[in-house]
Amino acid sequence: MVNKLIPFSPPYIDEDVNKEVLESLNSGWITSGPKVKQLEEEVAKLVAIEHAVCVNSWTSGAILVLKWFGIKAGDEVIVPSYTYSATALAVLHCGATPVMVDVNPDFTIDVNLIRKAITSKTKIIMPVDIAGWPCDYDEINQLVKESDVVSMFNSSSGNQKKLGRILVVADAAHSIGATYKGRQSGSLADITIFSFHAVKNITTAEGGAICLNLPPVFSNSEEYKMMKLYSLNGQNKDAFTKSQAGGWKYDILFQGLKVNMPDLCAAVGLAQIRKYNTQLLLDRERVANFYHHKFAEKPYFELPPLQDADRKSCFHLYALRIKGISETQRDLIINEITNAGIAVNVHFIPMPLLTVFKDMGYKISDYPMAYDNYSREISLPIYPQLTTEQLEFIVQSVDKAYRKIVLND
Ligand SMILES: *Cc1c(COP(=O)(O)O)cnc(C)c1O
Repeated sequence: MVNKLIPFSPPYIDEDVNKEVLESLNSGWITSGPKVKQLEEEVAKLVAIEHAVCVNSWTSGAILVLKWFGIKAGDEVIVPSYTYSATALAVLHCGATPVMVDVNPDFTIDVNLIRKAITSKTKIIMPVDIAGWPCDYDEINQLVKESDVVSMFNSSSGNQKKLGRILVVADAAHSIGATYKGRQSGSLADITIFSFHAVKNITTAEGGAICLNLPPVFSNSEEYKMMKLYSLNGQNKDAFTKSQAGGWKYDILFQGLKVNMPDLCAAVGLAQIRKYNTQLLLDRERVANFYHHKFAEKPYFELPPLQDADRKSCFHLYALRIKGISETQRDLIINEITNAGIAVNVHFIPMPLLTVFKDMGYKISDYPMAYDNYSREISLPIYPQLTTEQLEFIVQSVDKAYRKIVLND
């Protein structure tokens, strides 16, 4: 028996995290400085790209990228209906319209529906790698280059003219470490944004990273510098440089945002990313495989995708679905699991079910697959600290809850 409560997703805090954070605290410099620089280099190395820009959340990174591309009122950005609301809120923050499309049974955005949703106002497509499972990026990247799609594109900013087509921005809040056709998440779209929020695979408490993989008409190192400026009020000298003797003079070059990541936060992520591929990711895989083997024994469980010929998940969520149950039954099953002392979640409540989007006229009936995924889904705890004993208990409790609610067992 497990007599302690099992949390849903506690952060991974070990001696190395403590050491890095203390080093930052005692260094005399706690906001953006050397630790952020190191984390940016570690992210770029992991993804195999040249430049990543650390910011203080996925959301602020997305707003920065949208503004960098000149997104404004009247523009459309295509997003899946099945995601965390930040994907669409970032679009609204720029005054533009999120155009929601439905998803596939594997949670990824439906590329045929993207094609139908493209208009002369479409500026960006934002696929989301739900649970750490990459979307079909080759298809999406090809679609934006098709001649009829390119000829529909209307440029209204310098960067839009330069690119001359729809920009693909991956919402990779879940997918650091996932691979698609042998390439790392972060290098699959023009721009990719990771989240380092407290519940994500790598955390900085709050934070994110913008990975630059722009085509050769852009210089990724120039755009890196530009986005660093953008994240710091458009100020041509960061606080660290300004704090050095004689470094007081600066200029504000344009109206930027203030969304830089502090060193104190970067310290947490730095300790984690150094052991991500060799330890933390392997431990997540161990948990996912345990669930997979156990739930495969029962015909009523629908296993989430973890690996196929092209893709490998980074096991951010274990999104279990149960065949043939209603939303009400799902909720009752969750109550049973909760009563057993296990915290679970649902990923995601489709955006059209949330008040802000309902009020704008989005209707869940337009997104049947998103609703089906949502209504039968339960996200189970998945993190490196979980023991086999805890995992046994979770699997037993889920099965018991199903049998009680659905089979009156
Ligand atoms: C967590 C999450 C975000 C937002 O990340 P923040 O860093 O909290 O802004 C965006 N998209 C998805 C799919 C997420 O799960």
